[in-house]
Formats: sequence, C-alpha cells, structure tokens
Amino acid sequence: MQELRLRIQPEQAANADEVRRITARTLRVEEEEMGEVVIRKRSIDARKGVWIQLELRVYDKGEPIEEESFPTHYSDVSKAAPVHIIGFGPAGIFAALRLIELGLKPVIFERGKDVRSRRRDLAQLTREHVVNEDSNYCFGEGGAGTYSDGKLYTRSTKRGNVREVLNTFVAHGADQTIMVEAHPHIGTNKLPEIIVDMRETILKYGGEVHFDARVTDIVEESGELKSLVVNGKEVPSTYTILATGHSARDIFALFDQKNWKIEAKSFALGVRVEHPQTLIDQIQYNRKERGDALPPAAYNLVCQVDDKGVYSFCMCPGGIIAPCATAPGEIVTNGWSPSKRNNPYANSGMVVTVEPEELKALGFDGPLAGLEFQRVIEQKACEMAGGTQKAPAQRLLDFVQGKKSSNLPSCSYTPGLESVNMHELFPRMITRRLVEGFKQFDRKMKGFLTNDAVIVGPESRTSSPIRIPREKDTLDHPEIKGLYPCGEGAGFAGGIVSAAVDGRKTAEAIRVSVNS
Ligand SMILES: Cc1cc2nc3c(=O)[nH]c(=O)nc-3n(C[C@H](O)[C@H](O)[C@H](O)COP(=O)(O)OP(=O)(O)OC[C@H]3O[C@@H](n4cnc5c(N)ncnc54)[C@H](O)[C@@H]3O)c2cc1C
Repeated sequence: MQELRLRIQPEQAANADEVRRITARTLRVEEEEMGEVVIRKRSIDARKGVWIQLELRVYDKGEPIEEESFPTHYSDVSKAAPVHIIGFGPAGIFAALRLIELGLKPVIFERGKDVRSRRRDLAQLTREHVVNEDSNYCFGEGGAGTYSDGKLYTRSTKRGNVREVLNTFVAHGADQTIMVEAHPHIGTNKLPEIIVDMRETILKYGGEVHFDARVTDIVEESGELKSLVVNGKEVPSTYTILATGHSARDIFALFDQKNWKIEAKSFALGVRVEHPQTLIDQIQYNRKERGDALPPAAYNLVCQVDDKGVYSFCMCPGGIIAPCATAPGEIVTNGWSPSKRNNPYANSGMVVTVEPEELKALGFDGPLAGLEFQRVIEQKACEMAGGTQKAPAQRLLDFVQGKKSSNLPSCSYTPGLESVNMHELFPRMITRRLVEGFKQFDRKMKGFLTNDAVIVGPESRTSSPIRIPREKDTLDHPEIKGLYPCGEGAGFAGGIVSAAVDGRKTAEAIRVSVNS
C-alpha cells in the first residue's frame, strides 16, 4: 500500500474511474496491477483556479483494505454511581456517552422535548410566531446542535479528540464521508435521527434521559454540591455536569443571584447576510456555472476594524436563515442547511467582537453585561419589525450607504422580513465595524457588496457572553465542589465538536474524582 496526494480538476475528482486512471498514471503502473484506491482526505483549493486535493491510499492487487472501524466501548452502567447532567446538547450527550464508556451512569435533565415533539414547536414558531421557552431552536433534545447546520469543523488542534467525536457520529449513523472531508457537514435533515440514536445508546446501557425536566435551582452546602431542584423536586447529587448552553439565561441569573463566581467575557454580535448562492459560486469558483462536480461554494472572511475582529460566522451554503429566539418578544437569527445544501441562498453570520470594557462604556456593567446587551438588541429588533417573529432587514449596499431599502429581495427567513434601517438597531461602534468590514470583504470577494444581498438580524447568540469558571485540573467550579461547568454555555466551547470534546473531557475529570 502506498499513500499519494493528487491535485486534480473537480470533474476528474467526481469520477472514480478517472481518479483511478490518474493514480495509475502518476504511479507509473498499469491500472490492472493496482488494487483498491481509497480516498482518505478531500479538500477544495480555489485560490488559483479550482482544484480538488485528494489524499489517497493505493493498495496492491489482492491486498486487503484496512477498513476504518468506529469502535465504541459501552457496557451496562445501570447499577453504577449516577452523574447528573443538566442539558442534552452536544456537550451533555458526549459527556453521557463517555461516562458510560468509563463505567458511570449518566442521568440527564433536559428542559426541552424529544426531537419529534420539538419539531412541532419549531413549525409553530415559524408559522404562527409562537416561541415556546422550553422548546425551540436552542432548547430540546440535542440542544442547539439538533437543528443546527451540522458543520463539524473546529479550530481545535487536538485532532485525536476531534476524531473520537467524528467516530461517535459515524457509529450513530452519520455518513462516513465526515471522516474524509476537510470541512465535514451533516445537514439539518440528518442530525435529528443521529441524536435519537445517541439517546437510544444512553438508555440501552442503563443511563436515564428526562425530558421536560427543567433545573431551577442548584443547592450547595459548605462548598459542596448537595442537590438539584428539577421541576420543583429536590434531587440529591454529588456530581453534576452543567451543560446548559449559551441561551440558558435563568442559569446565569441563578449564579448571579447566589453570588457564585461568573465572569463577563468577549463575544460577537452582528447580522446574517444572505446572497443568491449562484453569486457566491461565481465569485468563489470564478466560473459562470458551478456544475455538478463542485459543492455550493462557501466563504470564510475575517478582517480587523478599529483593532477588533469582524468575521463571517457559521456560513451556510444552500441554506436557510432560522428564527432562534428562546423567549417571546425577541428576535435571534442563525443559519442551517440540509445535507445537499440545495437551497438557492447562501447565508452567513457577519459579526463584530464585543469586549466587556466596550459594554461598560455603553452602560452595561457586571458579569451579566453581555447578556443584558444581547437582550436589549434582540427585543429592539422585535419591536422594530412589528412584534412578531418577523425580522428587521435591509439590502446590503443600502446598509453600507446608510439608507433604508425601498423593498427587500426574496429571502429564506420564513417568518418574514420588515424593511428598517439596521443602523438604528445597533450602537454605532457595531454598525461602523460592520460597514467597514463589508467594504473590506468586497475587496476580497469582488461583487460581495451588492443590493442583491440582504442583511437580517440580529445574529446575537454566536457564543456565550459569560464564563462560568472551573478549576484547571479538576474542572469543577471553584466554589462548588462536584459541579462541573461544561460546553458552550460555560464558555469552554464554540460549536458542536468543541462542545462534544469538552463534554468528554468533563466526564473524564469526574471519573478521576470518583476514583480518588
Ligand atoms: C441554527 C443553528 C445552527 C448552528 N450551526 C452550527 C454548525 O453548523 N456547526 C457548529 O459547530 N455549531 C453550530 N451551531 C452551534 C451549536 O449548535 C452549539 O455550539 C452547540 O450546540 C453547543 O453545545 P452545548 O451542548 O454546549 O449547548 P446547547 O446545544 O445549547 O445545549 C444546552 C441544552 O441545555 C438545555 N438546558 C438549558 N437550561 C436548562 C435547564 N435549566 N434545565 C435543563 N436543561 C436546560 C437546553 O434545553 C439545551 O438542550 C448552530 C446553532 C444553531 C442554533
């Protein structure tokens, strides 16, 4: 077996026979002499022309292929010591699966509903503009991950951990191509069944999953965790993983009320921008027609304005802008796409980094400052757009030129749009950076700044504005032994994979504590 890298045309890469022919030619062997050719990694390079880069394993004739296996090591934990988990998002799910591998019993409390019931609430949110505070795009089985876009890439450099997470996704039904693609993507249509499969594993091996189970209090005695209050009932607990996500505002308020340590941290806020996908394809691939050999094009933009980052966030080719509010009277946007990415629009968050010191200057102070700032913007957006789930919007060039749009293009955001001047929604420091950012992005992607694009907002839940601190080694909260802040809500992750990696890491820390 030998390993080989190829850089070939998209049309060639899309044809397995052609890949085989080119491989044989490159290795100077006859095609018939070669065994299997297996793609190990695939990425697109669109810097000078459009190329597909493949990393291949070429086997000798008759040589058996090393099948990649996705082993799991679960055993029955029904009689083992319980570890409570608050929140069944990626952090909670992967913590639960890892606890089972380590011989501990996960008992999960999730305020939202199971995937299927949750889907009905999402439909109601879109069609009737009714926001259920326990069941929405952020809350419910699988957390914000279930109806997310399912892009599974992360800036994490710990590749081993990331591979473990991808393995677990494949073991629960995700397509094996996620192990090959440089930018793996599952798609919103496929995620729910994978999440259900993970829940079934947890139940099968003796874990417990409780839906409609909101934790409203955490009780501590002399610096040690004592119990949780779930739906008004006290549940004794020695170990609890707190994986409630960045939208669990009542949990942050609880910490603040009890004077337990939490810290304001920087986060990012801005808008979603949506272009016709064909335009993004033309800019990125520099071709009139994308053709079938290439996927709908993505982009990743970043620049500095006033020494602060302005960047694209969660870019969804062929996607949809989704209503992600978690309470009535607010507007929150985010984006997703189906596995085929076959919607006619390309959307992305365009956000500006906001530091706690800047919020102070705007009158928002203390650990909850970022959360209050988010809330004010989200509620103002709702008011400006008429008080339903319609979102405020403006054509992109009009926004940059500071004028209200006389009409709006068609858009994937189903609850509807209201034309407003988005400069009135944000403080000047945000709009200034966004305007400058869009101008710079147009220099990187000629044609990006166009009135065929629309901005919709706000994109306010990019990451947690608060960190719930934890001890460096033991990972429990410095003031409450036995309580483990985890995942995105606690400020230790930003995305599905990093939340999953953090869930696993937290489970491992608990195993060490139980053993000691
Ligand atoms: C539309 C959309 C698209 C996205 N696309 C991507 C993407 O493509 N790639 C990516 O990496 N990330 C994406 N994300 C972000 C990703 O989903 C989150 O980063 C990730 O889910 C965070 O995981 P978590 O487990 O830390 O928290 P969450 O997923 O937020 O889960 C927290 C859970 O805790 C529960 N909870 C909260 N409070 C309580 C309580 N008091 N009692 C009981 N339960 C409680 C909530 O109901 C929720 O289920 C997207 C998010 C959205 C909304």
